[in-house]
Amino acid sequence: MVTVARYSFPYEAHIARAKLECAGLDPFVADEHTINMQWLYSNAMGGVRLQVPEAQAETALEILAEESESALVEEQGCDTAPCPACHSHNTEYYQFGRRWTFLSIMLLDLPIFPIHDGIKCRDCGLCSKTPANTSQ
Ligand SMILES: [Zn+2]
Repeated sequence: MVTVARYSFPYEAHIARAKLECAGLDPFVADEHTINMQWLYSNAMGGVRLQVPEAQAETALEILAEESESALVEEQGCDTAPCPACHSHNTEYYQFGRRWTFLSIMLLDLPIFPIHDGIKCRDCGLCSKTPANTSQ
């Protein structure tokens, strides 16, 4: 089993577990009972661990990342940059480098590859990195 996420409270881990189960994975919430007994020590112990079989780790991380991504889009509203190719405003938030980051976490236990913010055009499918200062 591989730990794909840590949560301070068991209920948070179970929300994520349900999400992974819906996707056909076999997640397991570890340390839950210890923390229910002594929840004050939850953070000291590294929280409730959400684990999946190693073969499912990448899929699980993608599902969990999607969740935070849509939360981020909600935070930022629909104020995404226009597509540089077709100038459509029908774009969505997109992250580059996630796969490399995942590999570096798996191999080195360090996210050494930075994830870049970008946009993906829903009309023409082009993915582009957003410039450092978007004033448009
Ligand atoms: Zn486009």
